[in-house]
Amino acid sequence: MVCLAIIPRLHSRIFTSSNGTEVDGEVFEVDGHRVGLRVNERDYYFSISRFVREDQAYMQKWSAVERCSSCKGKVGTGFREAGDDKYHTRCFRCLACRKSFVGGDGLGKGPWGGLVHLEHTSLALSCDSCSRFFRREDALPKQSFGDGRVHCRVCLEDGVFEGTKVSQVQARILPVLKRVGMDLPTKPIHIELVGRSFLDREAKRIKAEGKLRGLTLTKFKLTRGTPSSASFEHRIYVLSGLPYVECIAVLAHEYAHVWLNERFIDSTPPEIEGFCNLISEICLGQDKSKVSLLLRENMMKSENPVYGAGFRRMRSRLKSLGWDGLFAEMLSKSSPPH
Ligand SMILES: [Zn+2]
Ligand SMILES: [Zn+2]
Ligand SMILES: [Zn+2]
Ligand SMILES: [Zn+2]
Repeated sequence: MVCLAIIPRLHSRIFTSSNGTEVDGEVFEVDGHRVGLRVNERDYYFSISRFVREDQAYMQKWSAVERCSSCKGKVGTGFREAGDDKYHTRCFRCLACRKSFVGGDGLGKGPWGGLVHLEHTSLALSCDSCSRFFRREDALPKQSFGDGRVHCRVCLEDGVFEGTKVSQVQARILPVLKRVGMDLPTKPIHIELVGRSFLDREAKRIKAEGKLRGLTLTKFKLTRGTPSSASFEHRIYVLSGLPYVECIAVLAHEYAHVWLNERFIDSTPPEIEGFCNLISEICLGQDKSKVSLLLRENMMKSENPVYGAGFRRMRSRLKSLGWDGLFAEMLSKSSPPH
């Protein structure tokens, strides 16, 4: 018989913003001015100052107590330690074999706190989207996509598999682009959800490196023979099943390509892709989820010379030029056909 320790639930509580918005969640982290709230199994970060005084006091009190890195409950005496983290004895175990760690065990920790024996990493899966660890044996068949991707249960639930979800993602992106002054075509753009093999094939065809999650193909016609009269047909392809937040990142990036293509802006790959990732990042910035933060951190830290270094370069251009200046600089690289 397998006997599983019962992990105490955190205290769910209604938190109220100064503007009256309520959120039913539980604190999982307090770090300086930032609070992490788990709402409906999803993790979000908010500024503590947005909450009413009573909630702020609750968060301060929460953080004054020593917490288990796994379940976030109070730790008393008899805890276990790994690095800077403390754990309840019952929480300090491998999520793959479920055995407690003993001294000398090599263990890995995922970005969501999951612990696994180094020699048991093959029994655990890491979500291709959010990197959460989960047990291979517990995975539902539908969590493995036929193309080699695996998603954790949360990312699968948030997956964008159909057009109505794409419209919701669009509705999150377009106002942000409008606010920074990026004009997009008024004509609806054809957006299609496609499988991994389609994108891999297209990537090969256009000699793109790495695994594409989205792609924009633009055709144009010069109706009166002048670039100013050009008419465009864009097709955006997005990898099917990406979780909502990752889909925001990909679609925003592709919208930036549409903007560049309509202006015949041509530059080096680090500038083009870096610019598109910058647009992606500001759209992600509107989302308070931990997934959004992880995606932005990946961009900031990426060693890829095009998508990582290019992004950081464009980010510092934005800081010194502002949006209008950055758009003007990109427009100066326009080379319309003649
Ligand atoms: Zn615990
Ligand atoms: Zn193990
Ligand atoms: Zn995930
Ligand atoms: Zn791109």
